[in-house]
Amino acid sequence: MPLVNIHTHHQQPGGSIQLINHLLQHAFPEHSDASYSSGLHPWHIRDTDSNALLEKLELLAAQNQIMAIGECGLDRTIETPLQLQEELFIQQVELAERYQKPLILHVVKSYPDIIRIKKSRKSSIPWILHAYQGNQQTTQQLLAHDFYFSFGTQLLRKPQKLQNSLRQIPLEKLFFETDDSTEKIETIYIFAAQILGLTVTALQELVFNNYQRIFGND
Ligand SMILES: [Zn+2]
Repeated sequence: MPLVNIHTHHQQPGGSIQLINHLLQHAFPEHSDASYSSGLHPWHIRDTDSNALLEKLELLAAQNQIMAIGECGLDRTIETPLQLQEELFIQQVELAERYQKPLILHVVKSYPDIIRIKKSRKSSIPWILHAYQGNQQTTQQLLAHDFYFSFGTQLLRKPQKLQNSLRQIPLEKLFFETDDSTEKIETIYIFAAQILGLTVTALQELVFNNYQRIFGND
C-alpha cells in the first residue's frame, strides 16, 4: 500500500504516491511521468503576467499528469490586493471545475473568504487545504463546508492546537504532505498515527482510500 504525499515540492525516492507542486511560471517538465498539481500561487501574482499564465494552466489542466489545480488561494498577509488574488483564484476554481480536478489550496488568514467563495460556487470538486494549521473553531466551520485537510511538518512539533484539529476531522477528509521540506512523508504519518491512536498501516490505508476516491484510477 503506497503512502500518499498530496503536496510536495521535491520528488521523493521510494514507492509513495506524490503530487509534485509545479509553479506555473516555471516550464513544465517534459519528460516526466510523475503526477503534478499546477497553479498560480498568490505569492507569485505580482511579478508575472497572470493572464498568460492562466492560459498556460488551461492547456496543462487538460493533461492527465496534472491531477489537481494549485496551489492557489488567498493570503491576507501579503501586499497583493485581496481583490486581485480573489479574481485570479476564482479563475482557477472555474478551470478546476471544468476539468473536474481537485484544488490544492494555500489559505492564510482568509478562511472566511474561502468559505464564502466555496459556498457561492456549490462546487462538486474536492477543495483540499494544504499545510493546514487552523484551530478547532475554524476546523468546525470548514468541516461544515465539506473541505479536505492536508497536514504537514507542522505536526512534528506537536502543537496542542493542531493535534486537537487533527482529531476533530473525519478520517475520510484527511491527507498528509511534505510541502517544501525535505522531511520524509513516513515521518508525518508516524506522528499523525500516534496523535490519532491508529497504527501507521491503518492510517496509510485510510488515506490511500481517500486518494482513490477523489482522484479515481486514471
Ligand atoms: Zn507548497
